[in-house]
Amino acid sequence: MSSLAKNRQMTLAAWRKLNPGATGSDIKEFKLAFGKVENTGLPDGVQALVPKPEDISILDPGTLNYQDAQMITTTQPSWLDADGQLTNKDGTECYISGAMKRKIVAAGLIPPVPVPSKTIYRISSSPNKGLCMFAKTDIPAGELIVAERPLVIFPGRIMTERRDEIPEHLTFQQMQQVMLNDAEILYTRVVDRLDPQRKAAFMKLANSHLHDGSGPIVGRVRTNGFGRLTDPGSIGEYTIIGDNLSRMNHSCSPNVHCDFDMHTFSLTARAVREIKKGEEITVHYCHILEPAETRQESLAPYGFKCECKACLDPRSSDLVRAKCAAYTSRANSEGLWYFDESIPKAPSFASLLAALRVFTEEGLEVCDAYGYVLYQLLKAYLATNDFENVKIYLDKYRAWAQATGNEETATKKVIHAWNLGRMVLQLRVLGLAVVLAAKRMPKKTGAAKKTAK
Ligand SMILES: [Zn+2]
Repeated sequence: MSSLAKNRQMTLAAWRKLNPGATGSDIKEFKLAFGKVENTGLPDGVQALVPKPEDISILDPGTLNYQDAQMITTTQPSWLDADGQLTNKDGTECYISGAMKRKIVAAGLIPPVPVPSKTIYRISSSPNKGLCMFAKTDIPAGELIVAERPLVIFPGRIMTERRDEIPEHLTFQQMQQVMLNDAEILYTRVVDRLDPQRKAAFMKLANSHLHDGSGPIVGRVRTNGFGRLTDPGSIGEYTIIGDNLSRMNHSCSPNVHCDFDMHTFSLTARAVREIKKGEEITVHYCHILEPAETRQESLAPYGFKCECKACLDPRSSDLVRAKCAAYTSRANSEGLWYFDESIPKAPSFASLLAALRVFTEEGLEVCDAYGYVLYQLLKAYLATNDFENVKIYLDKYRAWAQATGNEETATKKVIHAWNLGRMVLQLRVLGLAVVLAAKRMPKKTGAAKKTAK
């Protein structure tokens, strides 16, 4: 596959010879170009896509008898208006699979989009950055900042409804142009279904794909999409585009967590740490634990160079982030760490507090491992009867869980940690701590013996 990414002038036929076992999905994975691309029109001999009439518009929000992978254009979700009437007015225009539509409809009647307690942000322009979002007031961790119904939802990868095979003599760059042209036609008919106000909002969004063959609709989708919705069939992940939420710029130390809440069918952004009045509200567009150089490569298609503190001083920041990534691996290697039932008999407060300091100083509270460290501290303080610190870390952990959509799990965990802490105290009183310590010793297993042979 590497030759495919590097040599866009290779034809599909030549590539198939080099990769005899390759499948269609290998081809789909090749990265779209960005920046300045020459010859962006349709290749000679390839006609513009004409969507089949039956695909153009399926208006009935209740129709469900589609094949799983059949792509449909539909307005979602439906909800009850103030008069008790079923409506999907100002809903999200979606280009989704039949399986995805069934999943949305199966979620039932959607409650209203949550409303933040007050407007706590403003959108204004900033030199060299275009429109940005700023805090109008101090915002505590966990607070809901934005919640909005998405404007549009599209598949995360560019798709075509071209029934005929794309000619094998085309180069990958030409095939890419065919795909981008097709997608522009398909996506335009979805955006055209938005009411004028919402369509105008979509067209006002930034577009960093002006010269790479992306049309005005596909360019905006590529620039503003959030990937937080997975197809139950074979499409993979969808990209979701909001209005105000799209004004959030990137930072490698973001202060909000964005999510798509299927329950209310809304895009939400919550503070992962306290945000001061006047501070810019930021989200991350790339994997923030990777080294600065990798992050810049991932951000290049967005048409800017990140100049956050971490990117300006990568030598020290990369080391810190590698440490945080190790914590994340540890949290992940413990499986569902949020159900971790181990008892912190002799908790290492120093190492946990040091880990916490690394995350907060680098501004990485959005990471799962930050929540992991908070939970371990909460358990440790509970087990040592230190209720002053229990209160502090309970508040921090709750705010983190609220911001990152882990609230339900966190509640169960806090109850579990409370019971666990009480149990540890009682066992200590009974002098049974030694029994617990023995239980926590690594066990020899049959698998380990086999390996030794
Ligand atoms: Zn950065």
